[in-house]
Amino acid sequence: MSSFAATNDNGGILLVIGGGIAGLTCAIEAAEAGREVVLVEKSASLGGRVAAFHRYFPKLCPPPCGLEIDHRRAQNTPRLTILTLAELESLHGEPGAYEAVVRIHPRYVTPACTLCGACAPACPVEVPDSFNYGLSKTRAIHLPHWMASPAQYVVERASCPQGCGSCASACKYGAIDLSQQETRKTFQAAAVVLATGWAPYDARKIENLGFGRFPDVITNVMMERLAAPDGPTQGRILRPSDGKPPRSVAFVQCAGSRDRNHLPYCSGVCCTASLKQARYVRAQQPEAHISMFYIDLRTPGELQNFAARAVEETGIELVKGKIGRVEERAGGHELVLTAEDVLAGKKIERAYDLVVLAVGMTPQSGGLPQSAQLDEFGFACGSTPGVMAAGCVKRPTEVSAAVRDATGAALKAIGNRTK
Ligand SMILES: Cc1cc2nc3c(=O)[nH]c(=O)nc-3n(C[C@H](O)[C@H](O)[C@H](O)COP(=O)(O)OP(=O)(O)OC[C@H]3O[C@@H](n4cnc5c(N)ncnc54)[C@H](O)[C@@H]3O)c2cc1C
Repeated sequence: MSSFAATNDNGGILLVIGGGIAGLTCAIEAAEAGREVVLVEKSASLGGRVAAFHRYFPKLCPPPCGLEIDHRRAQNTPRLTILTLAELESLHGEPGAYEAVVRIHPRYVTPACTLCGACAPACPVEVPDSFNYGLSKTRAIHLPHWMASPAQYVVERASCPQGCGSCASACKYGAIDLSQQETRKTFQAAAVVLATGWAPYDARKIENLGFGRFPDVITNVMMERLAAPDGPTQGRILRPSDGKPPRSVAFVQCAGSRDRNHLPYCSGVCCTASLKQARYVRAQQPEAHISMFYIDLRTPGELQNFAARAVEETGIELVKGKIGRVEERAGGHELVLTAEDVLAGKKIERAYDLVVLAVGMTPQSGGLPQSAQLDEFGFACGSTPGVMAAGCVKRPTEVSAAVRDATGAALKAIGNRTK
């Protein structure tokens, strides 16, 4: 049964937690329709995981083709307040009358930043670049990525040497303020949308597949960065161990997924994502041998057409069988996969230059209000009045479904429908 909350304030603020494609869509749609919206994003910039893709299916657009429009809409919507480096600290009250406290971490860089870039070379500290999933390094002061919104540098203060102010000295615009402190803001909110998205499953936990031990075993999210022109190899798919183009690539599906020791569920998009990535490989390596080891090839709904085309165009070899183990041989020059070839009814061993683990999606449900109902895996479920969820924090899904979900949440919020 649908419920309309008896709100005491028909125009109360909508608080959206998470600024990925789902949260951003929800916030913009609600604000453009006349609602006051506060969008709270934990990281230094908006866009979530989509910003780190090379391209996204089904149309294989690069991320700017969806996100740039959203960034522009967000900037032109006066009713939308965006807080980055921010997290919900507490939420109390009831639908229509919540009090939310948001903690805002310092950026140490002010809006006077012109992106001139003089600060980063002056910084003496290198840190792993989390946007590239550690495949490259960046400086403690850096721009999160080229399309970052807000377009402002940020300082990873915990990595700075004591007393160092090299970046501030190098900035001729006075845009670096290393004395900034954490602040808090309190909002009266009528409703809250949770859109905190997903994180890749930690591949180190799947010990038999060698991630973390063998440099040429990478994950699907790392593959997106290797293929991206703004990535660690400027878009060339190269083996991390020796920087050479791989002559053979294996995609290992359900790496940890549908496995009760890891993630018992299917993430629904990984098979299509690997077929998309096979296209990245084929575009660069016309001769490369590409295989995909799968339990079941799951490309639901309209993704079926994309998948069928990708199989045809890449000539990928499909092997029905779960990988038992990955080992390094030939002095680290090749990775040997052992699998049960289910259709041939025999155990096989195959050597590859590069192995891509298709790890599943886990919900980012840390930092959600206590009243949020979570299922056994941590996905937001149920229907706490006034608190709705949208996108991958609810279930693993593709971008178009996350966007539809977010628009639905915005509509509910506009109509004061809180369930
Ligand atoms: C390898 C791979 C490839 C994929 N490729 C495609 C593709 O080609 N096409 C496609 O349609 N889909 C693809 N997907 C799925 C796609 O990534 C998701 O549909 C999409 O990211 C969902 O967006 P979201 O906003 O729900 O989550 P996210 O993108 O995860 O965004 C969530 C945001 O919330 C923020 N956040 C998290 N916790 C907090 C907190 N406590 N407080 C404040 N903010 C917080 C995060 O920093 C982030 O910005 C792929 C998935 C994988 C695994």
